[in-house]
Amino acid sequence: MSLLSVIVPCYNEEESVALFYCELMKQSSYFAEKGVDIELLYIDDGSRDRTAEEVKKLRAQDERVHLLSFSRNFGKEAAMYAGLEHAAGDYVVLMDVDLQDPPALLPEMFSYVEQGYDSVATRRVNRKGEPPIRSFFARMFYRLMKKISKTEMMDGARDYRMMTRQMVDAILSMQEYNRFTKGIFGWVGFETKWLEYENVERARGETKWSFWKLFLYSLDGITAFSTVPLLLASVVGVVFCVIAFLMILFIIVRKLIFGDPVSGWPSLVCIILMTSGVQFFCTGILGQYLAKTYMEVKRRPIYLIKEIQ
Ligand code: UDP
Ligand code: MG
Repeated sequence: MSLLSVIVPCYNEEESVALFYCELMKQSSYFAEKGVDIELLYIDDGSRDRTAEEVKKLRAQDERVHLLSFSRNFGKEAAMYAGLEHAAGDYVVLMDVDLQDPPALLPEMFSYVEQGYDSVATRRVNRKGEPPIRSFFARMFYRLMKKISKTEMMDGARDYRMMTRQMVDAILSMQEYNRFTKGIFGWVGFETKWLEYENVERARGETKWSFWKLFLYSLDGITAFSTVPLLLASVVGVVFCVIAFLMILFIIVRKLIFGDPVSGWPSLVCIILMTSGVQFFCTGILGQYLAKTYMEVKRRPIYLIKEIQ
């Protein structure tokens, strides 16, 4: 018998825990036929509602259910990492508890893994039910990343993904503190099969991602997988030098030919404001990378466990 570990990060999801279990177990007969056992790891990411109690109720009925509770909310990235560390399976799949990752896709995913793919990933072909402004910025983010990062990141990719043990071990070997899983999946390589599906809206509860949280997360992604922004200061510096040189030539020539008196302090103020603005912006970018390096250097644990069952 081989083992499939299903990792489910949960943050304040008391309504979804049991529902997810029921939906997932509808697929268990397929896996039983294939000679694959399932273990289900709920990662309680410091929930303040009854999520942990709900999982314990399930565990009382079914030994295959496990619970791992964090001491506080560490974020979904930390929850996924903890799940991967504690999964014992030969195959591992990451899923959201809100049923936005349809369990009905699992047999198809598994069939590709059987064919020899190292991982089977999913992407949404549309963003139905999402605020348009959010979709717009998400698209911009992926387009930007394509330009500034060597790591492949697919637009609309979900974290819903089945992997072999080999790929899981590769991901676990990346112990960075600022984790951006979408980039990590691409970085480790291996052969990935992409499945596409229509966006499914959340079954219960609400999304845990505000626009601001997503914006900060996208900055994590950029700093974690590209150093191109650091080049910006140099590029802008060179451009400004060229402009300044041309202007000096222009002013000298004009002075020699027309003998103009010095004038134009408004334009000077504009120039000073603009250059200092650009300087602050570039210093800010430096600061971002410095901050990430600072957090990385501290080597703090990615998560802390309160309870494990
Ligand atoms: N989640 C988590 N920790 C967090 C935020 C979210 O474990 O700090 C979990 C959440 O319970 C869900 C999954 O991550 O299972 C995806 O979250 P959500 O559905 O809110 O994100 P969306 O689907 O809107 O992108
Ligand atoms: Mg969701």
